[in-house]
Amino acid sequence: MTVIDCHGHYTTAPKPLDEYRKRQIAALKDPAQTPGRDMLKFSDDEMRASVASQLKFQRERGTDVTIFSPRAAGMSHHIGNAAVSLDWSQVCNDLIHRVCTLYPDNFIGVCQLPQSPGVRPDNCIGELERCVKDLGFVGCNLNPDPSGGYWTDPPLTDRWWYPLYEKLVELDVPAMVHVSASANPNFHHTGAHYINGDTTAFMQFLTSDLFKDFPTLRMIIPHGGGAAPYHWGRYRGLAQDMKRPPLDELLLNNVYFDTCVYHKLGIELLLKIVPIDNILFASEMVGAVRGIDPTTSHYYDDTKRYIDAADWLSDNDRRKIFEGNSRKVYRLDRISNQ
Ligand SMILES: [Zn+2]
Repeated sequence: MTVIDCHGHYTTAPKPLDEYRKRQIAALKDPAQTPGRDMLKFSDDEMRASVASQLKFQRERGTDVTIFSPRAAGMSHHIGNAAVSLDWSQVCNDLIHRVCTLYPDNFIGVCQLPQSPGVRPDNCIGELERCVKDLGFVGCNLNPDPSGGYWTDPPLTDRWWYPLYEKLVELDVPAMVHVSASANPNFHHTGAHYINGDTTAFMQFLTSDLFKDFPTLRMIIPHGGGAAPYHWGRYRGLAQDMKRPPLDELLLNNVYFDTCVYHKLGIELLLKIVPIDNILFASEMVGAVRGIDPTTSHYYDDTKRYIDAADWLSDNDRRKIFEGNSRKVYRLDRISNQ
């Protein structure tokens, strides 16, 4: 069995990438600060060093492949304009491609989109196509709130997003619904904004006919689906009150959940509530929570261990969670080396 972690970010990119971004932001006020891409000409050795810790965690935790995307908080679509977002997305996606080229057995690329608040998502189609067709990426991260916590754009189920969905369907790649940094001081980014984003996306899907319009569109809701599995009864009941179809019929051919839940009981709840066919193994390493749980002496984000410990799962269930479901959702069998 190949253990596929469907949610990893390049949080360990070489430092000059941060400097590039700082200068890009400074250039919004002073164009003389505009950074040149020659700042980002890293040697293969520098690139290898940057993912050494990621590879070490893969080996130690027994995962084989990470579906790898740019740092999520770093996307910060609320900063600057669409042109800035495009330049920033291109440089981040190109670095993901470098990592995937150096370690084709360990990393598979997923792209950041050049979203910008108030700008129609059609502007993301070019970069999505470049990443899938030219760089061999297998999906994208889709920010449901490019404003960074103010939710100024239409819901994910609005026709506003449809041209992008048409392209996702045409390319046959999924989107992980993933917010970025919070610009709203009410919402801590990984503690509140991320989980809000996941829960909000789930409820938007529940109240719409999006998947009637796009029966083959696939969305992954990360961080265990936010609050959805824990409040499954509420969502089932709301759907029933609204005369919507049952959740399995309404959503579960199109919506998937990852296992980025950082304690055993939380993962057990996810595994028992959500059908196994809709659960994709992930850890979001190295990322949101980096410490060691003093009650277990293991890293919080070592999520494989919680699934290994769920002794009621059959071998077939485990194969689906660790490998089969990601292969299906990301269509990995079309990549020759995997
Ligand atoms: Zn993430």
